[in-house]
Amino acid sequence: MSDSPKLDFIREIIADDLASGKHATTITRFPPEPNGYLHLGHAKSICLNFGIAQENAATGARCHLRFDDTNPSKEETEYVDSIKADVKWLGFDWGDDLFFASDYFEFFYDCAVHLIRNGLAYVDQQTPEQIKESRGNLNVPGTPSPWRERPVEESLELFARMRGGEFKEGEAVLRAKIDMASPNIVMRDPVIYRIMHAHHHNTGDAWCIYPMYDFAHPLEDAKEKITHSLCTLEFEIHRPFYDWVIEHCPVPAKPRQIEFSRLNLSYTVMSKRKLLQLVKDALVTGWDDPRMPTLSGIRRRGYPAEAVRNFCHRVGITKFDGVTDVALLEFEVRDHLNTVAPRRMAVLDPVKLVIENWPQGTSEDIELDNHPKNPAMGTRHVAMSRELWIEADDFQEVPEKKYFRLGPDRYVRLRGAYIVKCTGFEKDASGKVIEVRCEYLPGTKGADAPEGVQCKAAIHWVSAEHGVAAEVRLYDRLFTVADPDAAEGGFVSVINPDSLKTLAAWVEPSLADVAPEWSCQFERLGYFVADRCDHQSSKPVFNRSVALRDSWK
Ligand code: ATP
Ligand code: MG
Repeated sequence: MSDSPKLDFIREIIADDLASGKHATTITRFPPEPNGYLHLGHAKSICLNFGIAQENAATGARCHLRFDDTNPSKEETEYVDSIKADVKWLGFDWGDDLFFASDYFEFFYDCAVHLIRNGLAYVDQQTPEQIKESRGNLNVPGTPSPWRERPVEESLELFARMRGGEFKEGEAVLRAKIDMASPNIVMRDPVIYRIMHAHHHNTGDAWCIYPMYDFAHPLEDAKEKITHSLCTLEFEIHRPFYDWVIEHCPVPAKPRQIEFSRLNLSYTVMSKRKLLQLVKDALVTGWDDPRMPTLSGIRRRGYPAEAVRNFCHRVGITKFDGVTDVALLEFEVRDHLNTVAPRRMAVLDPVKLVIENWPQGTSEDIELDNHPKNPAMGTRHVAMSRELWIEADDFQEVPEKKYFRLGPDRYVRLRGAYIVKCTGFEKDASGKVIEVRCEYLPGTKGADAPEGVQCKAAIHWVSAEHGVAAEVRLYDRLFTVADPDAAEGGFVSVINPDSLKTLAAWVEPSLADVAPEWSCQFERLGYFVADRCDHQSSKPVFNRSVALRDSWK
């Protein structure tokens, strides 16, 4: 989708930098913290960073996948593996450019020592509360720490002892010495190192001091010679400190930070903390629950990667914060699947249709198009027999106005086959219709209705004799309100109780043999995918990816 004539403001900056010779090529990075699974917001960032590298491949452009794993307490290798798999699934490749920020711990340390030596950092031994209080606020300037003017040698020695494990957590920190009166609170001597006696997944127990994100991130970018460091808008006020670090540390390159607006989606929560809560509290079945906005969730839901990339392209890159309607994503999924997904028949709410004039024990081969608009997708054969499954709502005992399907003495066409006329029906004790009877009109297969026969609709069906029982999971939005984050009782209070309905359905026999993640349209019903985890030929399981139309309007 790089056919867009107009570049977004970031691509424009990069094009200018290449044209002016400021950079010979561009190196971007996608820097997830491995503390959760990737979500659709990350997809926007991945498409931007890897997309720029692809578009500028002729200049040797690259995009690094960098795990920002400097915080020991929250990270797990499960997340590293899932993040790699998700980036690949989305269609991107980091090649050899896989990095872990934790490999740079020694470099961060050296930079910190360099700052101390130059009088630009000091060890502060105030309590965390004192540090917080003395930072002031928007109206009140900060007050300098009593340790701010301590000699360089003293800070050097204390910092080494911090590293050596001589202090408990909270007893000492390293702070950059910038400006306690700065109007930007970020610049009021930010903490750049803290003590954490924690095990790290990569470095084990080698360290007990860890750099703060704002200090480590620009150094990671510089170390990897990133040219353009693209991040979301909330980092805009941190940019002066980003530049300060780059300016005052011995770094091999000077990356430029550029901010863009994050993706927010209606009917969705997107913070990893909240997604983790949904998983931990078993409100969903896992990170890959098809209702989750995680990439593994939407993948299992049957959203094609290409549709997600198209969606990100359509949303675009701007500096305006807003909420994107999730219907736009669903539109892209529908639009893509409409073109690529073959058609199949499945009956989700089955009622028996008995064709009384069809000879017992016989069946007929029916040839059906796999796609109404794409003959190249070929045809398939399904068997028709005396007893079929049809949807319960394709019969009405007392047909309402403009209802053109089955009712007493009414005609309807069975998709790809004959016209039938309803001759009767049967109900159970509760009044529910359990069987519909009809007669078929020989000679109407592939032919118009005979004179005097009113037939305005076709319905789908599955042969009761040949069909296969399948579990069908109808997924809907996970939340009932557009802005779950703003719900009075918290986002958990607005979970949609009907976000999953599990049905016992009947499907065409061939659907038992499809591979997991195979997508099709169930005619008249929507787009469905064979479940990535649970689908088996002995027990087919299909997830609804998206309905044929937007029913939320
Ligand atoms: P969360 O807020 O969900 O915890 P995060 O920003 O902490 O996400 P990171 O792993 O730090 O998650 O993010 C990796 C990259 O993805 C960062 O560059 C971040 O800016 C980007 N990113 C995260 N969320 C979004 C979003 N909603 N829209 C666009 N980019 C995002
Ligand atoms: Mg983060």
